[in-house]
Amino acid sequence: MFSHLPHLPLAHTPTPLEPLPRLSAALGGPRLYVKRDDQTGLAGGGNKTRKLEFLVADALQREADSLITIGSAQSNHCRQTAAAAAKHGLRCVLVLRGHPPAHITGNLLLDHLLGAEVVWSGNRDREAVMAEVAAREQAAGRGPYPVPLGGSNALGAAGYALAMLELKDQQAAAGLRFDRIVFASSSGGTHAGLVAGARLAGFDGEVLGISIDEDRETLRARVAAVATETAQLAGRPHAYSAGDIAVNADYLGQGYGILGAPERDAIRRFAQTEGLLLDPVYTGRAAAGLLDLIRRGVIGRAETVLFWHTGGTPALFAYAEQLLA
Ligand SMILES: *Cc1c(COP(=O)(O)O)cnc(C)c1O
Repeated sequence: MFSHLPHLPLAHTPTPLEPLPRLSAALGGPRLYVKRDDQTGLAGGGNKTRKLEFLVADALQREADSLITIGSAQSNHCRQTAAAAAKHGLRCVLVLRGHPPAHITGNLLLDHLLGAEVVWSGNRDREAVMAEVAAREQAAGRGPYPVPLGGSNALGAAGYALAMLELKDQQAAAGLRFDRIVFASSSGGTHAGLVAGARLAGFDGEVLGISIDEDRETLRARVAAVATETAQLAGRPHAYSAGDIAVNADYLGQGYGILGAPERDAIRRFAQTEGLLLDPVYTGRAAAGLLDLIRRGVIGRAETVLFWHTGGTPALFAYAEQLLA
């Protein structure tokens, strides 16, 4: 699958598939498992690494000499892009939202250690600033490769279609069948790849994205579009519509990156029952959604459910005060 596309090994795969027996018991079911994509291995790991295996390979094939991308100050995507660039001798420019924070910590600290140049977008549109940076690089005789927000185009999503085939083998080896896969969905590339991969792998459970910062219909439409392009890229065309995409947008809280009581409780619960660290922005919110859906009986106690951990733990350090509140 995707063997016609250039591909670089960046991630430690297969990532572990582990049971969560103490958490499952504490909840009285369902049987919970976790897929450890927080352990993909690239400078702190996370879900962007699988996408970058295709995106950076494409950049190198096009003879680019720098990667440019966008994100927030605590972007895990930017940190992993900076690491992939360093590993392959490329320059990296990160356009980050807003103004420089008072303290450099978490992912932003790692961006600096990894040698990325950081440009703050201030009050301006990030995409516009990214286009300016690309033009500036070109004018200086360089070959910039723009990586989209979250690495979420079909090329990036191909990484998650392959991850679904990886899971299929692990499920078979362990004699498991998941009724649902639950994970954090934001720019939609992970979701799109899992949806396209589910069809390729013959997975018939639900692929349920917990929206982090987007209303349900916007995210469904975006995921359907990228999943359709990913299926095309796989040589197994299939047209997805918004109605095919499972999104729950009931856990947006006070907005992107704002840690509330549900996230804090979920982070403590996973940490204290399983020794498993979630992150404050994405997996903490998705896990809070998962716990609430179980509590309300939407996810049944007799099910077998996979929580796909997408990483992000370096951002914990940027949220110390809110986490201890
Ligand atoms: C980027 C990110 C997500 C969301 O993935 P998308 O492909 O952008 O939807 C989830 N969790 C973490 C930790 C992330 O960094």
